[in-house]
Amino acid sequence: MIAALAQPPHRTAEWQCTKCSVTNRKLVPKQTAVTDDRCLACHAKHLVWVGTRPVRWNAEAR
Ligand SMILES: [Zn+2]
Repeated sequence: MIAALAQPPHRTAEWQCTKCSVTNRKLVPKQTAVTDDRCLACHAKHLVWVGTRPVRWNAEAR
């Protein structure tokens, strides 16, 4: 069996909160282009999408 290889690769989406400027990180599947997350500090919900640099993602409050 190749169950161990079936685990999809993940990467870290790093995004900056537009409300309080805290940097948040979320582990997402490697193919993910858009996700949503909640700021750890102020709990504002954000739409997060991949940026020109693969580590720093764009974020917009929603
Ligand atoms: Zn925040």
